[in-house]
Amino acid sequence: MTEPCKTPDEDKRGVAQKIDWEDFRDHLATADQQGNRRWLYPKKPAGRWHNRRAWFASLLIIIMFVGPWVRIHGNPLLLINILERRFSILGQIFWPQDLVIFAVAMLVFITGIIIFTTAFGRLWCGWACPQTVMMEMVFRKIEYLIEGDSHDQRALNAAPWNAAKVFKKVFKQVVFFGLSFIVANTLLAYIIGSEQLLTIQLDDPRNHLSSLWLMILFTLLFYAIFARFREQACTFICPYGRFQSAVLDENSMVVAYDYKRGEKRTPLHRDQSQEQRTAAGEGDCVACRQCVAVCPTGIDIRNGTQMECVNCTACIDACDSVMDKVGRLRGLIRFASQNNIERGEPQRFTARMKLYLSVLAALISLFLFLVFTRAEIGTTFLRAPGSLFQQTAGGKIQNLYTMKIINKTSRELPVELRLENIPGTIRVMGNGTFSVAKEKISQTSVLIEIDPADIKANSTKLKVGVYSNNKLLETVTTGFVGPRR
Ligand code: SF4
Ligand code: SF4
Repeated sequence: MTEPCKTPDEDKRGVAQKIDWEDFRDHLATADQQGNRRWLYPKKPAGRWHNRRAWFASLLIIIMFVGPWVRIHGNPLLLINILERRFSILGQIFWPQDLVIFAVAMLVFITGIIIFTTAFGRLWCGWACPQTVMMEMVFRKIEYLIEGDSHDQRALNAAPWNAAKVFKKVFKQVVFFGLSFIVANTLLAYIIGSEQLLTIQLDDPRNHLSSLWLMILFTLLFYAIFARFREQACTFICPYGRFQSAVLDENSMVVAYDYKRGEKRTPLHRDQSQEQRTAAGEGDCVACRQCVAVCPTGIDIRNGTQMECVNCTACIDACDSVMDKVGRLRGLIRFASQNNIERGEPQRFTARMKLYLSVLAALISLFLFLVFTRAEIGTTFLRAPGSLFQQTAGGKIQNLYTMKIINKTSRELPVELRLENIPGTIRVMGNGTFSVAKEKISQTSVLIEIDPADIKANSTKLKVGVYSNNKLLETVTTGFVGPRR
């Protein structure tokens, strides 16, 4: 990706500093030479990209928190109930039997991420990842409100402990913990369902000890992430950053520094005209380091594309604002590909992206086909364990079966059974009628009776049609055992 610039940096007095350009590769931006954590104080971002991001994040946050409470046809918008093996996506209930649909959905997700990353780098991380959205748009904003901007935060941390500092620090942690509790409850609502969550919250806690432990665990986890780990979660824990380096190429659009235009970077001297800068071989970068000051991952984008960059665009806004002040064109840091910066080429739709896109289109088509042709029920029809066959007084042969039906719809289904490939009678044991409540599994015994004249072998293959209101929902096959021939 973009090459690190090769010119010396200068401090504010214009004194050239000796810089080891490869140094940033040897240690993380958030760690010192000894490997200790370097706490970041990113400057409050502002600008048109930040405004866009704030609007988008607000929308995502609303969806995230309202999601568990929204119902479509009475089912949750999204539910991933691993404990009861019940899943709802856009109000459609899925069961473990819909494993193929899940597998294809996962492939669509993974392929989508590969294509998206190939085209736009870690844009997902900076703009849509729930961790970043909550960290930068909620927790960080609260921190700015309580402790002030970057400079005030540094000053507060360096200041001796007094009543004001204790109040700010304690108040911030209390708010962070409360918010972590809300986030944890929201995650729990996606796992166990909002009704179940309400029951836990309103009922005697002693009746829901395991769920309460989960709630406490999630709260502590989120509190640790948002109050302490922060950007470390993106760098160390999330594998996506490392994965990105495998799929990025010279045509990927990422947040990039235009080193051709920016170098040689030197501070702007008073009374120095642009012509003088150009004549001296100085570029548009005025070495103000505002792009570094706003970076929530602590990197210097002028060193080239780095794993830690989440494409949050804060540095674009910071640099644009500097360019406005010094009367230069915006876009010294911008969304651009390596080819765009090096050769001025426009964004290209490469063969690799076309291939990925075709695979994605095929997978999405398969996913939609599977979802829309998905049977409303799932039936298992097995011979009752330990039973062979019986002969009735009238000479007919009887086999006993166990039938289990999953009703995947949100309405009760009366069920009727018919033998499809052979004459005979099929009867649900008990009162003869059978219905399955919505989104439930029901089991019953079924007796099939066939005239021995219609049995051609020791085991005859039967096709049983499962109907509801005269509509064929599914056909299942099973074996029918008769006397040896
Ligand atoms: S904000 Fe722009 S001008 Fe300032 S150091 Fe960064 S790239 Fe250079
Ligand atoms: S380098 Fe720029 S885009 Fe990347 S994380 Fe830092 S501020 Fe965000």
